[in-house]
Amino acid sequence: MTLMTKDEYLSSLKDLGHRVFIQGEQVASVPDNRISGPGAMAMAETYEQAQKAPELFTAESHLTGETINRFAHIQHSTEDIIKKVVMLREMGRRTACCFQRCAGMDAINSVYAITYDIDQEYDTQYHARFRDFLKYIQQNDFVPAACMTDSKGDRSLSPSRQKDMDQYLHVVEETKGGLVVRGAKLHTTGGVNSHELLVMPTRALGADDRDFAIAFAVPASAKGVTFVYGRQPSDTRRLEKGRPDVGNPCFGGCESLIVFDDVFVPEERIFMKGEYPFAGRLVELFAANHRTSYGGCKVGVGDVLIGATQAIGQAQGTEKAAHFKDKVAEMIHLNETLHGVALASAAMGKQTPSGSFAVDQLLANVCKLNITRFPFEISRLAQDLAGGILVTMPSLEDQKHPEIGGYIRKYMAGREGVTSDQRMRVLRLIENIVLGTGAVSYLTESIHGAGSPQAQKIMITRLADMASARSCALRLCGVEGLD
Ligand SMILES: Cc1cc2nc3c(=O)[nH]c(=O)nc-3n(C[C@H](O)[C@H](O)[C@H](O)COP(=O)(O)OP(=O)(O)OC[C@H]3O[C@@H](n4cnc5c(N)ncnc54)[C@H](O)[C@@H]3O)c2cc1C
Ligand code: SF4
Repeated sequence: MTLMTKDEYLSSLKDLGHRVFIQGEQVASVPDNRISGPGAMAMAETYEQAQKAPELFTAESHLTGETINRFAHIQHSTEDIIKKVVMLREMGRRTACCFQRCAGMDAINSVYAITYDIDQEYDTQYHARFRDFLKYIQQNDFVPAACMTDSKGDRSLSPSRQKDMDQYLHVVEETKGGLVVRGAKLHTTGGVNSHELLVMPTRALGADDRDFAIAFAVPASAKGVTFVYGRQPSDTRRLEKGRPDVGNPCFGGCESLIVFDDVFVPEERIFMKGEYPFAGRLVELFAANHRTSYGGCKVGVGDVLIGATQAIGQAQGTEKAAHFKDKVAEMIHLNETLHGVALASAAMGKQTPSGSFAVDQLLANVCKLNITRFPFEISRLAQDLAGGILVTMPSLEDQKHPEIGGYIRKYMAGREGVTSDQRMRVLRLIENIVLGTGAVSYLTESIHGAGSPQAQKIMITRLADMASARSCALRLCGVEGLD
C-alpha cells in the first residue's frame, strides 16, 4: 500500500497502541477523544488531499518509483520545494491550524542529506539504513514525528554539564544489537498522531557531548515511550455539549511531551551515534527546511484570518470604509511578503551531496524571522477591525435559551440580513486563531517553532556575505585600506 485513505489513516492511529495521557488520563483512541480528535483530523486531511488533489499532494518516490504522499517525499529539485510551500499554504487554508505532518517531512529530508555526509567523513553505513527506514515510511504512508527539542534544563550549560543528564536525550547503554536511550523531547508537533518517532539532537555539540549526538527512529508504540498531551488555550471548550464556541469545529494542532524511559533502539534504526560535529549541521538543515515551511502553512492560516476579517466587516457594515480597506490591504501585503520569501528560498535551493535538494538557508532564516513578527501584526489588525465583541461575546448556545435567546439574536445581529449566528460564528473563528487553540500555532509557534528569533538572527549574521557588501560600499566611495 502506498497511499492510505483518510479513514485508513485514522484506523491505523486507533490501532497504534501508543501510550498517551491527556490531563492525567490515559487515552484509548486519539482520534475519538474530544480534546485530541481535531488534531488527528487535521493530520488526516493530508491523506484526504492526496486522494482529492494528487497533482499537488503526491510525488514520485525516488526510491521505488511509486506514487507517494508528498509529505513523505525527498525533494529532488527546486520545483519540489516550491510545490511543498504551495501545498502547505493550501493545507493552512483548509484547516486554519497546524496540520503537523510537515515537521516529519522536513526531518526526513534533513536526516537523508546529513547521513550521507556522515558516511563520507566516517565511512559509516547510516545513509543506507536511513533509505531503508524511508522506504518503510513511504510504502506504508506513515507519519514520522520530528523529535528534536530537549527539555534542556539550565540553558547556559552544555548537555554533558547538566546536573541531571536526562535534560538532553542520551545513550545510557550499548547492548547487543543496539542501544538504550533516556530523556524527553518536548513540544513535538503531531507526536500522538504519528506512527514513528524520528529523533535528532537539539543543538551543536562538542567532544564531551558525544553521548548526546544521537539520531534514530522508533515506533510510537515502543516500550518506554510515553506521550503527555499539551494544553492549549480554550481547549476544554471542545468538551462542552455541541461545542458551540470552539471557533474551528473540525481541526486543531497538537503538541506533546514525549518521554523516552530507557527505550531500546535497534542498530538498523540508528542514523548517528557519536559523530558530534554533524549534530549542529543537522539542526541547521532541519531548521532551515522547516523555517521555509512556515512561509506556507502560516500564510494559509493568514488567508483564513484575512478572509474572516473581510467577512466580519461585511457583516458589521464597515467593509467599505477607507481605513478598513487600507488595513486589509496591509494584512494581505504582510501575508504575501511571508509567502514570497518562502518561495524565494525554495527557488534558490541547492542540491546537497546526497542528491536531494535543500532550501536557501539565508532566505529561509529571513522568512522565519518575518514569521516571528508579521502574524502578530496581521492578528492585531484583525482584532482592530473585528471590534471588542471578539472577547466579550456571549456563547453561541445562548441564542437558543428560552429567556435570553431573543436578546442575543437581536443584539448580536449585524447589519440588516445578517443573523447573530452568522456574525458570531465568524467572530469565534477569528478568536480561535488569535487567542484560542489556533493561536498556539499562528502566534506562539510563529515565534519559537523551528527555533526562537535569536537563532534566526545568528544564522542571518553568519550566512550574509558581509565582506562583499562592504567591498561594494568601499569601492563606490573610493575608500582603500579600511581593514
Ligand atoms: C507550538 C510549537 C510546536 C513545536 N514543534 C516542535 C516539533 O515538532 N519538534 C521539535 O523538536 N520542536 C518543536 N518545537 C520546539 C521549538 O523548536 C522550540 O520551542 C524552540 O527551539 C525554542 O526552544 P524552547 O521552547 O525550549 O525555548 P528556550 O530555549 O527556553 O528559549 C526561551 C528564550 O531563551 C533564550 N535562550 C535560550 N537559550 C539561551 C542561552 N543559552 N542563552 C541566552 N538565551 C537563551 C531564547 O533565545 C528565547 O528567547 C515547537 C515549539 C512550539 C512552540
Ligand atoms: S507549524 Fe506549519 S510547517 Fe510546522 S508542522 Fe505545523 S503546519 Fe507544518
